[in-house]
Amino acid sequence: MQTESIQLLPEHIIDQIKAGEVIERPSTLIKEILENAIDAGATKLDLHIIENGLELISLMDNGKGIDAEELPLAFCRHATSKIDRFEDIYHLNSYGFRGEALASIASVSRVSCESKTTASSGQINIEGGQTVHHFHQDKKNTDTGTKIFIKDLFFNTPVRMKFIQSKSAEKNQIKKIIHSFMINHFDKEFSIKWDQKEKEIYLKREHQVERLKDVLFAGKNIEFEQISAQYDGIDVQLFLSHESSRGNAHKSHFLFVNDRYIKEIPIHKVILNTAAPLWPEGETGHYVCLIKIPADEIDVNIHPNKTVIKFFRLNKVLSLLSGAIRAHLVPKQTRPIASERQDDLLPQSLGEREVQYREVNFNLKEETASYFENIHYQTEENHQSRLLLQDETSLLFQKEQKLYFLNKELLCNYHIRKILSSIDQQKVSPLLVSKPLKIDGALNESKIKQALDYGFEIDALDQETFVARTFYMPLQIYPYLTIIEALINQNFAMETINFYQSFSEFHLSAPLLREILGELNLAKLIEQNIMRELSLSNLKKIYAK
Ligand code: ADP
Ligand code: MG
Repeated sequence: MQTESIQLLPEHIIDQIKAGEVIERPSTLIKEILENAIDAGATKLDLHIIENGLELISLMDNGKGIDAEELPLAFCRHATSKIDRFEDIYHLNSYGFRGEALASIASVSRVSCESKTTASSGQINIEGGQTVHHFHQDKKNTDTGTKIFIKDLFFNTPVRMKFIQSKSAEKNQIKKIIHSFMINHFDKEFSIKWDQKEKEIYLKREHQVERLKDVLFAGKNIEFEQISAQYDGIDVQLFLSHESSRGNAHKSHFLFVNDRYIKEIPIHKVILNTAAPLWPEGETGHYVCLIKIPADEIDVNIHPNKTVIKFFRLNKVLSLLSGAIRAHLVPKQTRPIASERQDDLLPQSLGEREVQYREVNFNLKEETASYFENIHYQTEENHQSRLLLQDETSLLFQKEQKLYFLNKELLCNYHIRKILSSIDQQKVSPLLVSKPLKIDGALNESKIKQALDYGFEIDALDQETFVARTFYMPLQIYPYLTIIEALINQNFAMETINFYQSFSEFHLSAPLLREILGELNLAKLIEQNIMRELSLSNLKKIYAK
């Protein structure tokens, strides 16, 4: 394979990546370096993890290597050799190539990397983002590959403490990532070493099901069910273990859609519910579900650890799965399938949301009114407003010879609520770099789901912090991260929520004000007491105070 040279990303893409604190966790870093090795064509990967990655994460691969002179560039932000694939970032089959993984890793650890290409050998040591040693040499090599050693992860950040405290959670997460990788890349050899334990060797396999058994049952001969079904271009393969237990600990539940490891709660629930007859009451087993679906039936929004995709017709997938599991289990059924439970779950709660395009019925008074209300602001947009005065809480502006007094706080709240009241999921954008936000109380499933409805995909970092992975673009004029924090911490109580309080330093510039007013209906603002028309005498009174 030819080595493409590493290049800096174009400005516009760099601009898309918002400045901010880079947050990663050991499992994410592991995923990134595994992906890099696979991208480099490696067929043998040798991973060693000490103290859940805090002490050491090392990976050796036999890929094509990094050109010795370009080693520093590989650890430079926004540098990637996969530039031609960057346009692909929104497509499903691309991994996370955003040219920042190695740079982020290097900024929060002590990294050393040795690499051999067919033409060079090199080594680099970086501590907290500073190169302390770089060596390169032209040399013909036949044993190409890269060794990366990441030591003392987060040594220079307060996050380290948190990972030290939450050991088992992080370990499970790391295992999940590694296992999903190995299942996906069954044709590659992996060796995994945890702390000072013996290496686990996973030889390359010809069939995915062999690797599945290696991963799920550690080579033991455990009985499992293999179910497959196809419908309307969707192909489902499901493996269910007979072995079962209570609770979720040490359980392997894997869902892959078009070879990407994802999480989709409804699918998970349907599998566990429908397959329930396989296990004793109250227990569940392992499963691996592999779905192949036409690319236009799903929507994938790439971001650092994207494990969520959107199915346009989830119902179809759920019906296919539950039908296939039922058909397979019927002859072996040991206790009745809770069919009502199953049927409840499907059509009502998981129904697809349909976009409604309706025509206006001018015979209906209300409909007509709202129709004209919309027209109203479109024409008004052209008449510019002039911002005369602004203080912390209010604004004075002029529009068509009239003076208006406006409560900034109420205006922003009103506008944000309006934006959030009809979310267009097409306008959800990935946030490649985000900063940690605080949670008061726990971040539960329902909050995570609600946040999704508002275009924010969020991940808990630990008990007290979370990060947003996506945001809703129409909110970009506002400090949107603060808004998501307010939403989460005030339980999405839209009626009472006060966004403005949480970003008091927010300054409304004249163009911004114009933009906002252009979108809103002035009459409505007056009606809601957000804005008031002023006479000169009123004005004097207000500013005399
Ligand atoms: P990206 O993968 O998005 O390009 P990274 O920061 O992960 O960004 O890596 C930067 C570059 O370093 C890659 O584009 C690739 O050229 C090189 N690289 C990283 N890891 C390896 C590896 N294991 N083998 C060969 N090249 C690598
Ligand atoms: Mg990468």
